[in-house]
Amino acid sequence: MAREQDRRSILRGMKGAMRLLQDLGYDQGEKRKQRVDVFDSIDRAGAALMFQPLEKLLGAFMSQDGTAGIILNTERPLGMQRFTAAHELGHLTLGHDPHADDEGILRRGPIADGRAFAKIPPEEREADAFASYFLLPSHLITAQMEIQGWGVHHFSSPEIVYQASLRFGTSYSGAVFGLERENVIGSGLRRELLKAKPKDLKLGLLDDQALPNPRRSDVWMLTEKDEGAVIEAGRDDLFLLRLNEATGAGYIWTFDQLREAGFVILKDGREPVPEGQIGSPSVRRVLAQAGRPTANTLQLKECRPWDPEDDPQTLTLHYRTATSDEAGLFERQRLERLAVQ
Ligand SMILES: [Zn+2]
Repeated sequence: MAREQDRRSILRGMKGAMRLLQDLGYDQGEKRKQRVDVFDSIDRAGAALMFQPLEKLLGAFMSQDGTAGIILNTERPLGMQRFTAAHELGHLTLGHDPHADDEGILRRGPIADGRAFAKIPPEEREADAFASYFLLPSHLITAQMEIQGWGVHHFSSPEIVYQASLRFGTSYSGAVFGLERENVIGSGLRRELLKAKPKDLKLGLLDDQALPNPRRSDVWMLTEKDEGAVIEAGRDDLFLLRLNEATGAGYIWTFDQLREAGFVILKDGREPVPEGQIGSPSVRRVLAQAGRPTANTLQLKECRPWDPEDDPQTLTLHYRTATSDEAGLFERQRLERLAVQ
């Protein structure tokens, strides 16, 4: 395939993604700031969504007599399932033929180095370009940079790119490629960032605590900047809350709501105050894990224990567990089918 034709495929995929994001309202209001709910998007695009264990395949797109369906492998981490789901949604949206995908779709990346693109069919390039734009549109990068106060220079840190990837809802490498596509970083930095291993970035946040599930667990670092965020997490994810605490004035954060919502607190402490900075707020550091899948609005509170209503600070998080590791129909479609029986 000529380079020119490859460019056309990429453009076609991106445009398809842009159109669907607009149709689903993802480019507006609060939705601009949130990770794109790709499973919900498949449902709203009118296709059945199935989860099931598959040996080598990541997923497949099927279509027969006007009925479309997408199957995803339950045996893969959420980030990989989300990319596969978006890739199959690309095949559906762009009117491609039914088709199954193996791990090749993860290895090739959106940038074709050398002549590698010549070996990839145009429909696959279109679906890849669709997936990478659909999951990480330019408005989501801009919105998260504003919310978190990230400037371009912050993205030279793999730790920050990893935290960004969780908010974007992409894999670490997906975030790196998306930042390059939007010219936030250049190709030299892309190559540097891709040398970092996500597993090391996770363990770096944990002070010797083991990951509950080395393949699936992510580690979210949450701060006051995540106020109002929608946290769609895997069931084995960990949450490191780093919150400023005005201990000098008697204020402390309480985590009762977290426990009531079924979270287990694995660690609770304060970071040492740097030398020469006595009087500055201390940083509370709490590591938590959801004990069971849940969907909850959590409101954490920093107050004076003897006068809880005096000028409390709050942190509100909308949390839900993404259960994509159980075989069966997508939850909403299962419920709808039960309702019509
Ligand atoms: Zn494909």
